[in-house]
Amino acid sequence: MGWDEAQSVRERYLIKQIEREISAVVGLEHVNTDPVLLHEQSSDWSWISQHLNQRKMPVPTADLYVEPATAEEVAEVLRIASEYKIPVVPRGGGSGTQGGTFAIYGGIAMDLCRLNKVIDIDETSMVVTAEAGITGPELEEILNKKGLTMPHYPGSFHFGATLGGFLAARGSGVVSTKYGKAEDLVLQIEFAVPPGKLIETMKVPNHASGPGIIQTVVGSEGTLGIITKATMRIERLPESQVFLSYGFKDISAGIEAARKIMVERYRPAVVRLYDEADSAKLSSWLNLGVEGVLLVIMCDGSKELTELESNGIAKLCESVGGKSYGAEIGQMWWDGKYEPFKHGNIPAPPQIFGTTDTCARFEDLEKIYWAKKKVIEEGFKEYGARYSAHFSHWFPWGGMIYDRFYIDNGPEDSDEAIALHDRVWDAAIQASIDNGGSLNEHHGVGLKLGRFMRVQHGAAFDLLQRVKDAWDPDGILNPGKLGFGPPKNRR
Ligand SMILES: Cc1cc2nc3c(=O)[nH]c(=O)nc-3n(C[C@H](O)[C@H](O)[C@H](O)COP(=O)(O)OP(=O)(O)OC[C@H]3O[C@@H](n4cnc5c(N)ncnc54)[C@H](O)[C@@H]3O)c2cc1C
Repeated sequence: MGWDEAQSVRERYLIKQIEREISAVVGLEHVNTDPVLLHEQSSDWSWISQHLNQRKMPVPTADLYVEPATAEEVAEVLRIASEYKIPVVPRGGGSGTQGGTFAIYGGIAMDLCRLNKVIDIDETSMVVTAEAGITGPELEEILNKKGLTMPHYPGSFHFGATLGGFLAARGSGVVSTKYGKAEDLVLQIEFAVPPGKLIETMKVPNHASGPGIIQTVVGSEGTLGIITKATMRIERLPESQVFLSYGFKDISAGIEAARKIMVERYRPAVVRLYDEADSAKLSSWLNLGVEGVLLVIMCDGSKELTELESNGIAKLCESVGGKSYGAEIGQMWWDGKYEPFKHGNIPAPPQIFGTTDTCARFEDLEKIYWAKKKVIEEGFKEYGARYSAHFSHWFPWGGMIYDRFYIDNGPEDSDEAIALHDRVWDAAIQASIDNGGSLNEHHGVGLKLGRFMRVQHGAAFDLLQRVKDAWDPDGILNPGKLGFGPPKNRR
């Protein structure tokens, strides 16, 4: 027997041994080594994953699939993984776009979808506690029956995205301008860490009892812990929704309108500003019949509040030259808000594309928009690269740009196509960071953008790395993601 063969016999034996131990925890039927299932579990909605799947090429898969049903089972699987020092890659709905579920170092693909129960609805404090694998629609159905909602509606709402996934990458939804992003909605989490411990954070997020542990785990994309349960803010379904829509002569005027709305401290639920290219796409999908820069606004709450707020916002929009298109366009936008993600509208390979969202202060927003348009459209002119954007979440100090690049005809060769994809990403992210923007705003880092973590954080990344090393000494939690390196000390 040659060395390679002997090595693979040992590996296979070890995996089988681990499989038997984990089966004793979660039940035989909840552990699997079926290559098709392993492939599905490692895939996500990243361009690379879609590209490899479209070409029927392999993606880096785990060795074992496990679907625990309780937090205690998650912790037990982590204990076993820690003993063998093998990676654990958590997965919710697999709607991530950054290769976060790729198992580049093998190990265990942990499907969290069986942790899908609502544990408690506290209508006095207006919070819901649910297990991390529940999907947005499952949670909404239960809450809506009581006239309640957890106001987080991402574009991936119908793509299986889970509560744990919302928190894992600090997600944004269509109404997060008013209600906050996932990290603002969360009050408490339970999470599992090596070597098999369950940790519960304080019952309230606002305190003066040392640094906030909750915000260290939120956004860590499975590299510091596996979230098993979360308590989130909820709201009553609004009594009234008032829609407004405006055309502007250019993106600059549109940004100024949104800035005024935010710094005057209005709190509309939706403020979406589309550049010419994005508004043309939107208009054709929803039959809006409008052209040029478009701003869509929705105010919600009581009738008195929405009337007052929408009147004030209308005056601000008009003060910077906004031309009203009326309420109907806004209502059509709301009714069709998931339309851009429908089959045929959502981009797909062989086209090369990427959503390079960023977040910045008002003073930098427009500069970033033009810089990115330039590096993409001029830098990749030979490939006919196109850039379009909308600005979809706003803060009292700035906003986020949801921008995309598209190359319709990339290289035929797969390695060349991937290399081009990465080069465009490099140019786009560098332009965001150089001009005062963040690496991204809500899609996470995953495998795709790990190389930018040091660029983004500078010396602070060394501190993050030390936290990671202390928290997960063998580096088994989703290794290779967020710029953290491979697992260590594997037996
Ligand atoms: C069409 C489309 C539209 C999208 N629109 C939005 C949008 O509007 N807003 C937005 O924020 N995002 C959006 N996304 C990105 C993505 O859907 C979100 O990040 C989503 O919250 C991921 O949830 P998930 O359960 O599918 O996570 P997964 O894809 O399963 O996992 C994503 C990452 O989180 C980790 N992870 C998952 N669950 C846990 C857990 N319980 N504990 C620890 N780590 C975990 C995984 O290991 C992985 O690294 C979109 C994606 C698509 C495909």
